[in-house]
Amino acid sequence: MSDLNRREFLTAAAAATAGRVTGAATRPPNIVMILCDDLGYGDLGSYGSAIRTPNLDRMAADGMRFTDFLTANPVCSPSRAALLTGRYPTRVGVPRVLFPKDNEGLPDSEVTLAQALKAKGYRSMCVGKWHLGHLPQFLPTNRGFDGYFGIPYSNDMEPPVLLRNTETFEERADMNRITAQYTEQAVKFIERSKDSPFFLYLAHTMPHIPLGAGKRFRGRSPQGLYGDVIEEIDWSVGEVLSTLRKLGLENNTLVMFASDNGPWHQGSPGRLRGRKGMTWEGGVRTPFIARFPGRIPAGKVCHGVGSLMDVFPTVVKLAGAPAPGNPLDGIDIWPMLTGQKPEIEREALLYFDGWHVQCVRRGRWKLHLSRYNSVAYSPAPAGGRVNIPLPAPELYDLARDVDESYEVAPEHPEIVKDLQARAVRLLAGFPEPVQKAWKETQARKPRRTAVGAVTAEDKPAEPKKK
Ligand code: MG
Repeated sequence: MSDLNRREFLTAAAAATAGRVTGAATRPPNIVMILCDDLGYGDLGSYGSAIRTPNLDRMAADGMRFTDFLTANPVCSPSRAALLTGRYPTRVGVPRVLFPKDNEGLPDSEVTLAQALKAKGYRSMCVGKWHLGHLPQFLPTNRGFDGYFGIPYSNDMEPPVLLRNTETFEERADMNRITAQYTEQAVKFIERSKDSPFFLYLAHTMPHIPLGAGKRFRGRSPQGLYGDVIEEIDWSVGEVLSTLRKLGLENNTLVMFASDNGPWHQGSPGRLRGRKGMTWEGGVRTPFIARFPGRIPAGKVCHGVGSLMDVFPTVVKLAGAPAPGNPLDGIDIWPMLTGQKPEIEREALLYFDGWHVQCVRRGRWKLHLSRYNSVAYSPAPAGGRVNIPLPAPELYDLARDVDESYEVAPEHPEIVKDLQARAVRLLAGFPEPVQKAWKETQARKPRRTAVGAVTAEDKPAEPKKK
């Protein structure tokens, strides 16, 4: 028996023993996924923030914290599609943010995590922001969840209606009450589900703007209203964890915490470059904390690359549920979560914005291939906002240069070539709109763009048709 095999065997034996004591061997673990909206990489105490987050800090101390966890896309809807399907948003047809005027949603051909867990008898509830289609057929209760309570899209979209299942609960949700309302629903769901395996997807509306915080939190944080909002989310995490503890469920529950994309206007990306809507790390890297006493070692930090797309295959495997027919892009990261492996090999991870692939990542190396000709959320230049190829791909060594300041492609031509080849291989398997976007980008005049620079030269090389 090799050392690794022996370690794996001992871990499995210890888990089996723990299972006999708690009865967990016959019951798959409960899953709690807490997702924030637009919370930045640098917004938690354990990630270097001055904002007070004692419950999340304790969760990190009791479990594992990732430094290199990615969201697959820098905006809301696609990130949620990736989390709930284990597939790239461009593969599941949700490449961009959905608006109330849109009649689209996550297609029926996709299997959600709630649907996959049904096979193992899980009860499931989605509390919070859905943002994968607001028409009845797309809502959580029609996508595998037994219950829903939340705003079906972003809180800056009109009207910010609060739904219970598919019915209106409040015409206009109150942003000062929303985090407390979500928390109450989450706690009640755990309490009434304690006798069966359950999946709670708690997707906070905060800290997406417009911000709101309860009376107990307003004006309390030295970091202002944004700090108040984060402190209330931290309180909410504490409520969920203490409910699990009170019910004797914490040793059979995997709790995960992440954000859907980087910070927007408020919040901090920490040392990372860029924010929401950008494929610089600040737009796509999220805090990721996972806690499962006895299964995930306490107080560990993982520097391996993880993705929100990995949650689906990891949870499905852990639950012993059958894998869905659709091929997954995420991988099972349980060996990283248990500390057995510091990282896991994969072909590469692609960074999309809309249909466009802009970067490719493998381990410490990140190659930028293309970029928009204007900054997200700034006025588009004449001729519209278009994706353009860089004159030469830009390579960054994230292990030494996490803020992507020094371009090192000339020093590592073999890595550039390897990452380009991996991107091309992966792209070949994507749907037609991705291929079309890639070809259109390649046909445009290459430009070296600096973030924020919009010049006459940034106009599309060819006028738009029709
Ligand atoms: Mg978001």
